Amino acid sequence: MLNRLKTDFRLSIITLLGTSAFLGITPFAAIRFWQGNVLAGLIDTSILVFICAGMAYAWITGDTRRSGVVLAVIACAGAVAVAAAVGEVGLFWLFPCLVTTFFLANPRLATLLNATSIVAMVAQSDVFQSDIQMWTFAATAVVVSAAAFAFAQRTNDQRERLEQLATIDPLTGVQNRRAMNEELGEAAAHAERTGMSYALVMMDIDHFKKINDTYGHSVGDSVLVDLVTRMQQSTRKSDQLFRYGGEEFVLLLPGVDGAGLSAVMNNLQHIVRKKVKHPGGTISASFGVAILRRSEHAGSWLDRADSALYEAKKTGRDRVVFSDKKPKPTTQEHALGTGFGD
Ligand code: GH3
Ligand code: MG
Ligand code: MG
Repeated sequence: MLNRLKTDFRLSIITLLGTSAFLGITPFAAIRFWQGNVLAGLIDTSILVFICAGMAYAWITGDTRRSGVVLAVIACAGAVAVAAAVGEVGLFWLFPCLVTTFFLANPRLATLLNATSIVAMVAQSDVFQSDIQMWTFAATAVVVSAAAFAFAQRTNDQRERLEQLATIDPLTGVQNRRAMNEELGEAAAHAERTGMSYALVMMDIDHFKKINDTYGHSVGDSVLVDLVTRMQQSTRKSDQLFRYGGEEFVLLLPGVDGAGLSAVMNNLQHIVRKKVKHPGGTISASFGVAILRRSEHAGSWLDRADSALYEAKKTGRDRVVFSDKKPKPTTQEHALGTGFGD
């Protein structure tokens, strides 16, 4: 439970809002009923019930996006309703709501919600004792909203930057192994739900160490960058390339199998052999390919692609080995001399 609060920022805000609303509003709801102000008591109770239900929904389903929006709307509408029922105390309740909206909903929606709440509050002229009080409220509410917006925006930017640092390979700009593990898991789950086919290609440049040793590390680096650029140019937008480590890459291909996969591999091998160059000529690579099996786990899928790659290295390099049944070959494939494992 504590771990979820640590890792899910929106859930922690929802929990903070829910808990403080429960602790802060309950005594007021009781006082309103005790004072005979049934309407205000009912408003307080409704806010409490909705906020607690939203918090429970977020914890049970994990859908903090939807519950965050609902809670932001309830909190702001509740503060405006309290002002209508009991007067200026509602103004004070609106301030914490104006801050939390930016952490519960997206910036555009939160801005719209805050602006609507401030206007709805100002429109109730009998809530304010004077025009000065009304304009002071409006000005301070706008300042609080602007500060919350800036703070939330900065937090968001920093979170995105951290995410990028944790998942992007700095040399080639493609996603790293950590991101790959996540994407393979998601692909396997998606395939299980929808029956979509997925293929995984693991590739390793042949004798790469020799390039480094002969021409230097920076030439080796340029070869890696060039390889990535060319592979990205020749694959679809939906295909995902990952740097698995060193000179090993993984390509995730959704919706590809059979003859289509065979053609993709021909093309990849052609690009590596003919287009990726270093001062001494072109490079070659070995490929291990595995098509995701029904109900297969990402780990076993990756292992099969890795074994196929191992097989490709063992049987002479510069070839493609399929872990699965050999897909229908194309004419071009024979011309390029693609090898198959089993
Ligand atoms: P094989 O055909 O068996 O794959 O041989 P290889 O030489 O490609 O494989 P090996 O694993 O022996 O060497 C991989 C080399 O890749 C060793 C390492 O110095 C180099 N390498 C790993 N990461 C980088 C990098 O970011 N830049 C450069 N220039 N070289 C790298
Ligand atoms: Mg290698
Ligand atoms: Mg290697």
